[in-house]
Amino acid sequence: MLQGKTALVTGSTSGIGLGIAKALAKQGAQIVLNGFGDAEGPKAEIAALGVKVAYHGADMSKASEIEAMMKFAADTFGRVDILVNNAGIQHVAKIEDFPVERWDAIIAINLTSAFHATRMALPAMKASNWGRIINVASIHGLVGSAEKSAYVAAKHGVVGLTKVMALENATTGVTCNAICPGWVLTPLVQKQVDAKAAAMGLSNEEAKKVLLQEKEPSMQFTTPEELGELAVFFCSTAGNNVRGVAWNMDGGWTAQ
Ligand code: NAD
Repeated sequence: MLQGKTALVTGSTSGIGLGIAKALAKQGAQIVLNGFGDAEGPKAEIAALGVKVAYHGADMSKASEIEAMMKFAADTFGRVDILVNNAGIQHVAKIEDFPVERWDAIIAINLTSAFHATRMALPAMKASNWGRIINVASIHGLVGSAEKSAYVAAKHGVVGLTKVMALENATTGVTCNAICPGWVLTPLVQKQVDAKAAAMGLSNEEAKKVLLQEKEPSMQFTTPEELGELAVFFCSTAGNNVRGVAWNMDGGWTAQ
């Protein structure tokens, strides 16, 4: 379905980003990976799906590096047709204790990077009159949780930015939508499970249950594979006129 298209997924060396990159690769898209840590493993996983893959290690908190990454993608594959703004970090603390440096980093990586990558991707998408921008927001783009001020502010910002991106391109073949996952058991969430286990003297399995019980009626984690399938839907012809939605995959979190 996506043969001949190029997808750039930020923060795709791990977790949800890697899951989305694999789902798009399975549909034939060539992939530009980004993120920290080991890139060779993820590159090999994508290549095994029979598509071309490249990697750029841009730090998404830096506009100049995002610019270099977008140029690298265009030089390597011609242009970016599908942009998945996914890179993100978390920090948990009360507002009065929140380190200023963590606030700045979360806003830069979780929100501002999507603005930069999108503004650089749009001209080529508009020129070809086809494009998909998928912002990985969060259920925290729709509701709040205590001790997550920067993350909730950034993710609400991403949902707002998604709507503006969709509106500004509404008469073109470029769509923009957000995905809002509840709990997904990635390294980002495992850290929160570990913190809960340590604070409450629980095993890893018990801590996972407590985490789910607090918010997610299904008592199940959403998987990167499921989120990847949603991204594929947005890229399909059925997604041609889906514009500016914030689609939750949250096990009933926000239905309460
Ligand atoms: P993860 O920690 O597994 O992956 C994060 C990715 O971002 C990694 O590839 C990491 O290297 C990369 N990254 C971090 N800082 C970066 C930077 N400065 N520059 C470039 N890359 C950077 O986390 P995840 O859970 O897969 O999170 C992915 C996205 O999904 C984030 O935006 C997160 O907020 C969102 N999300 C996660 C959950 C969840 O429950 N895990 C729920 C809702 C939304």
